[in-house]
Formats: sequence, C-alpha cells, structure tokens
Amino acid sequence: MVWKVEQAVAWIEKTNALIQSNKEYLTELDQAIGDGDHGLNMSRGFQEAEAKVSSTDYDTIADVFKDTATVLMSKVGGASGPLYGTAFLKMSMVLKGKDPVTQAEFADAVEEALNGIKQRGKADQGEKTMIDVWHPVADFLKNGQNVQAEKLEETAQQAMENTKDTLATKGRAAYLQERSRGHVDPGSTSSFYLFQALADVWKE
Ligand code: ADP
Ligand code: MG
Ligand code: MG
Repeated sequence: MVWKVEQAVAWIEKTNALIQSNKEYLTELDQAIGDGDHGLNMSRGFQEAEAKVSSTDYDTIADVFKDTATVLMSKVGGASGPLYGTAFLKMSMVLKGKDPVTQAEFADAVEEALNGIKQRGKADQGEKTMIDVWHPVADFLKNGQNVQAEKLEETAQQAMENTKDTLATKGRAAYLQERSRGHVDPGSTSSFYLFQALADVWKE
C-alpha cells in the first residue's frame, strides 16, 4: 500500500480504539509482572495522541508521527512512553519529505523505529520486551512483495504470544527472574495492538 496522511492519522485512531478497549487487560498483564500501570499509561498517551492528530491539519506523514511522538513522550509515564515516543520520532525522521510513502519507505521507517527502541532501552530481541514484537514485524515488512495485512497481524500476534514463555532480562519484569515466565509481556501486547491497527488500516 501507499501511505498518505489520512492513513497515518487512521493508524493512530485505530490504535487508540484498541488500547482503550483493552486497557483493563493491559493493566492485568502489568500487575502480573510489573507495576500495573501499563493500561493507564497507554490509554492516557494514545487518547492524547489521537486528540492531537485528529484535530490538526497535516501536510505530511512525518508531521503526524512527530506530534504523536511528542505527546507520547510527554504524557506517558513509565518506560513505555519514551520508547514509543522514540519509535514515532524515528519514523518521522525517516519519512521526512516522502509523501506519499511507499511500502519500502514505510518498512525502513519501522526498522529505524526498532533500532531507536533498542538503543533507548539498551535492550535486544529475546529479553521479553516490546522489541520481541517490533523485531519480527520489521523483518516481515522488509519482505517486499509478499507483505499482506493478514500476515502482518499474524506475525505480530504470534510474536506477542511467544513472550509468554520467555525470561525477562530488561524492564521491571526482570526483577522477578524465573517468575517472569508464564506471563505475556504487557508492552508486547500494546505493540501487537499497534500493528493490528496498522493491518486494519491496510485492509481498507
Ligand atoms: P513501567 O515498566 O515503567 O511501569 P510500562 O508499564 O508502561 O512502564 O511499560 C512496560 C513495558 O515496557 C514492558 O512490558 C516492556 O515491553 C517495555 N520495556 C520495559 N523496559 C524496556 C526496555 N529496556 N527496552 C524495551 N522495552 C522495554
Ligand atoms: Mg508498568
Ligand atoms: Mg510504571
């Protein structure tokens, strides 16, 4: 697909809708292996991000993502705010001056977002964090021709579910050591919603 401003705004709106309707679930996941605020953090952040981007006239996708980044960094407490903020900021930087955005450019943007999250969180794949979802999704998007919305959603969902059995070595869950196993990672779940929303926009 080719991306225009409307799709970028719709992505934020749909992500917000999924986050709001799964807020309690995100809270439960974070109660199990964190401090129980992930539902609140994400719902506050994406509510504000949606309010901002749906009430502003944009000429470029880069500006939509830049505003999203600013809101997430300033409104979301906890580790996830700066991490999601960094992701959107990196996407904004990669996509500057590239409207409409092609599939290949969007794939580059997601890859840079992933690199930004890794750098900011000093973490890598396999540490039971949102990176475990971003990584396979970034790889998948680089597949070029074979990229389909349904497959994107499947990839993100599977990756999220896979975090259940892994050991946390970054974030609050790492304090639990072996007891972090058996629970899905909250940030991987919110990242799954983000990519589920992306797949939805794609299908339209
Ligand atoms: P906090 O842990 O500060 O309360 P949240 O609950 O909002 O923040 O977010 C927790 C999520 O953030 C985790 O489930 C994990 O996916 C992600 N996370 C935490 N630390 C890192 C890190 N260093 N790198 C990448 N992601 C991280
Ligand atoms: Mg938390
Ligand atoms: Mg917290």
